[in-house]
Amino acid sequence: MGFSYILQPMHTIITTSYRTAAKFISNNETTAFPTETVYGLGANAFESTAVKKIFIAKGRPSDNPLIVHVAEVDQIPSVASSMPRYAEKLVEEFFPGPLTLVLPKNKKIAMNVTAGLLTVGVRIPNNPIAKKFLKECGVPVAAPSANISGSPSPTTWQAVKNDLNGRIPCILKGNPSRIGVESTVLDCTGSAPVILRAGGITLEQLRKIIPATRLQKHQGAIPKSPGLKYRHYSPFAYVFIVSSMKETVPLKSSAYIGLHSNENNNFGLKKICRTEEEYARSLFHFFRECDKKNIETIYCESVSEAGIGLAIMDRIRKASYQ
Ligand code: AMP
Ligand code: MG
Repeated sequence: MGFSYILQPMHTIITTSYRTAAKFISNNETTAFPTETVYGLGANAFESTAVKKIFIAKGRPSDNPLIVHVAEVDQIPSVASSMPRYAEKLVEEFFPGPLTLVLPKNKKIAMNVTAGLLTVGVRIPNNPIAKKFLKECGVPVAAPSANISGSPSPTTWQAVKNDLNGRIPCILKGNPSRIGVESTVLDCTGSAPVILRAGGITLEQLRKIIPATRLQKHQGAIPKSPGLKYRHYSPFAYVFIVSSMKETVPLKSSAYIGLHSNENNNFGLKKICRTEEEYARSLFHFFRECDKKNIETIYCESVSEAGIGLAIMDRIRKASYQ
């Protein structure tokens, strides 16, 4: 019968047991789980029928590839067929952590994971619950962020519930994500690494290990990272990037997030962060809080594009495209 793509509402269990969550992966179902970047929505990366459920639950375009997560370095060959010497160095230095390496794909990884590409993104999260969960799964787990496609990534289990309750069978509960923005996606298929998406590991950190690391500047006709062409991370409100609070119109229906404050308290919501790390950690949560309060305009203070600032500016720019 047709219409199999229409999602039947389902009961969502919320659990603190990584074993319970891992059973859903074994049964070719999906489960959300915490990581240090953002919460992920996982499925067995070897099984296309399981992976398909991720795309349906999120409403994610099928040409946007997923990152594959494993528990241990010795599982990487089951995901990627080879890696250059410089990528081995990066694994030694940054795994587990907020870095995804794009490498030639192992044939065993389902084609819908990579959206038909012959490369695959692989990462080992550095979050105690994620590690235990992935170890228990025993298979590589394909997982994009656990939000409805286009909305801000979830940094708490409550945010996952808000978006996906009734659309996925399980949420593994953990703490709020420590980093709060996604991993750095690094193309390792050429002679030197290229950052496709800025994230938790900075360009400066990467250059200390591989000095030739560069930023992907312009996307070609066929983007190397297909997901980058979509609108992302967007709250309902209009997002404006400002260089200081002076450029804003403080109203109850507007909100401000940044590093500096004057005494203006007329905003419906205001978040002044002590560090750029706190800014990154708070950004998506702040967007979601603004949506709950029906904020119409969000002002985001710009930061310099150094360190984690590169990822912050990338996310607020993408959120501001309407
Ligand atoms: P998400 O996990 O929702 O943050 O999305 C994962 C992102 O990683 C995608 O939007 C892609 O931009 C990128 N990505 C995953 N796999 C690949 C790949 N094989 N080649 C290039 N980019 C990838
Ligand atoms: Mg995402």
